[in-house]
Amino acid sequence: MNAATQRVGWSRLPLRAAAFVVLTCATILGVSGWREWAARDAVLRGAETEMANVARSLTQHAEDSLDLLDSGVVGVVSRLEMDGTEPATIAKLRSLLDARRKAMERVHSLAIIDDQGNWLTLPGTIGSTLSDDAFFRYHQLSPKREPYVGRPVKSQLDGEWLITLSRRFNKLDGSFGGAVLATISSRYLSHFYEQFEIGRNSSVALVHGDGLVIARNPSNDKFVGRSVADAPLFRDPSLQRAGGAYHFKSPLDGAERVSFFKRSSRFPLVLLATVDKEELLAPWRAAAISRMLYVLALVMLIAIIGAVLVRQLQRGQRMAAALVEKEAHFRLLAEGSSDMVTRIGLDERLRYVSPSSVRVVGWRPNQLIGTPALAGVHADDLPQVQLLVDAMKRGEKEEVRVTYRNVHRQDSEVWLESTMRVTRKENGNVDGVVAISRDITEQKKLETRLETLAIEDSLTGLANRRRFDERLKEEWARAYRDRSSLALLMIDVDHFKAYNDEYGHPAGDACLRVVATVIAAEMQRAGDLAARYGGEEFAMLLPNTDAAGCARIGERIRRAVREAGVVHSTNRASGCVTASLGGAACRPALERTAGVGSLIEAADQALYAAKEGGRDRLMMSVEVASLLPKASGL
Ligand code: GH3
Ligand code: MG
Ligand code: MG
Repeated sequence: MNAATQRVGWSRLPLRAAAFVVLTCATILGVSGWREWAARDAVLRGAETEMANVARSLTQHAEDSLDLLDSGVVGVVSRLEMDGTEPATIAKLRSLLDARRKAMERVHSLAIIDDQGNWLTLPGTIGSTLSDDAFFRYHQLSPKREPYVGRPVKSQLDGEWLITLSRRFNKLDGSFGGAVLATISSRYLSHFYEQFEIGRNSSVALVHGDGLVIARNPSNDKFVGRSVADAPLFRDPSLQRAGGAYHFKSPLDGAERVSFFKRSSRFPLVLLATVDKEELLAPWRAAAISRMLYVLALVMLIAIIGAVLVRQLQRGQRMAAALVEKEAHFRLLAEGSSDMVTRIGLDERLRYVSPSSVRVVGWRPNQLIGTPALAGVHADDLPQVQLLVDAMKRGEKEEVRVTYRNVHRQDSEVWLESTMRVTRKENGNVDGVVAISRDITEQKKLETRLETLAIEDSLTGLANRRRFDERLKEEWARAYRDRSSLALLMIDVDHFKAYNDEYGHPAGDACLRVVATVIAAEMQRAGDLAARYGGEEFAMLLPNTDAAGCARIGERIRRAVREAGVVHSTNRASGCVTASLGGAACRPALERTAGVGSLIEAADQALYAAKEGGRDRLMMSVEVASLLPKASGL
């Protein structure tokens, strides 16, 4: 992966982190939602199973009840067929039927009906006829001996809704003799269904095969006898099976319901157990809502923490970018600068060296990093530099500027000027020094050259007049302090104007250089100073020298000039270049003088005297003083 791709990846990090947080939240929500939906499904499946069990047992109950009725009916039918319908037989049977009816709670009535549809056993209803009733007509027309379960009917006796089971009985000749009828009241069934607690908005209903409600709990009175033949249960082909669950919307109140139906295999009966979906799901919904609230709170917490983290990531990234930019600026400055930037640790080793080190000291940064920072400093300058570095390390100095000589790989030595500044840690403790070093060798050379120019006479290379004046003052003061003697020689070339006239000015210059060399050769002590005083006049300053010493040196110079043998034809006395000298010596601390001026004056007068005396000679001021007692204090 290259740096650019890495940078792009890095810049997308907050986006990726945010996407991760969103994905995590979405996953948690999704999984929780899916689990809640599965729990809801499980509740519905459980309800279906429960309803199926209820429907099965109630269907069984209905079948058993009808079987019970039928067993009674069968008994009566066989009696009637054996004994006929004589009033005595009927009377006997009536008491039997009454006893039976009383013994069995679920039997509402047991009755015998003759071939005309008249009641044979129920005295209260004599006169009414059942000849139009469906079951009666069925038996009248059908020779079948099986029990017939009829549609629910309303009792003519007490107005109760009844479910009827009847069988035909034949006369002795095999013709239709009438029917035996047994009934169960709708209310009995409805009471029985009350025992099953299946919920407030739920119901159990027994429906006849053709859609008439036989019994229902709750609200039996309201529903019994009503037809539900329009309901999907009777119309939907997919529901025309022995049993099963189905979901529907109530046409009455629009509520969602779940039903389980069971069709009796033996009788035209359907049992329908229905629960209200809302009610069924209410506990699940309450639990699910509280669980989902927890999940939502968790998701929100994750989202908030995620948002904070993403924010921090963004901020960190911005800071890192700013840092990188700062670093880039710094590098640009450090590495683009012709000055060498170094960072020195507390152990005085180099931690960072900018590339310009190659130019400044001749070594590459990697050759210098880790080495002692002061290793290249010239031995003479090292104590001074070390002192400053130590002071900075102690925190006594914040910034220093120092000039020193340093080793250079090729040029042996360079002059460096370093500006060093202390760097500190966040807690304020000094952790190193940053130095910006500049090569000032050229500048130094120029300085030296200027210094030389300032004190040197360009023609002869001797000290110039300025230098001479300075040194004279210094030596005067020193002689005063040391109570020592200071001597001065003034030297003037003889007939030099004539020399110039004779040989030309350039030759005159050359001559002066020769004279200067001769004079310089006589500087024997470190403190001696030969200078060009002006024109063809020279001076020699001789510290710690008395008049005798001065005279000795003066004489040597005079002789040396003459012996140099520079031809000077117009100097008739010798034919070569000669000089006259005036010397003076004094002990400033012990003699009454008028300062440095008086020494020059004395030497000058001596020189003048030497000229007067015929040139090419030395005169000491003491000699002059003896000749001219009033001329000077010296
Ligand atoms: P005296 O013996 O009395 O000293 O005679 P002189 O000719 O040397 O006297 P003066 O001091 O009058 O002349 C000095 C001459 O030195 C004048 C000038 O032409 C010459 N001179 C002074 N400075 C220079 C110089 O730098 N170069 C040359 N070539 N000549 C110089
Ligand atoms: Mg002169
Ligand atoms: Mg002269």
